[in-house]
Amino acid sequence: MHEVDMTRALLLAMEGWRQSHKPQVPLVDTVHLQVGAFTCVEPDQLVFTWQAAIQNSWLEGAELAIEPVALLGRCLCCSATYTPEPERGYRSPCCEHPMEEIVQGRELRIRSVDYQLPQPDTATAFLPLSAPRP
Ligand SMILES: [Zn+2]
Repeated sequence: MHEVDMTRALLLAMEGWRQSHKPQVPLVDTVHLQVGAFTCVEPDQLVFTWQAAIQNSWLEGAELAIEPVALLGRCLCCSATYTPEPERGYRSPCCEHPMEEIVQGRELRIRSVDYQLPQPDTATAFLPLSAPRP
């Protein structure tokens, strides 16, 4: 998936999340994202696109923290898990079986969001009560 599309999907998800806090607007500090190695998303590129996209929006200043998730396959011959490598055609090293089951590595999800809600407005306006000086 292209990083621009990914950022768009992220912003949509964040917008839905913001709506659930109405009427308050959460102040987002960090968005923790899990990105699998099998998603073809370049983390640096994604952060760059994110930073550009959130300028002048309610998310401005929010950091994108990317947690990489390694690709892990399961061999359907012997049930062993292994790290598929493109050089081996993603075949299992134990039985040379083609990769058919991916245990992890396709993740593209928001794991958590660090944020705070603005304090309810309890400020009191004090009007000058002293009588005008003569
Ligand atoms: Zn095997």
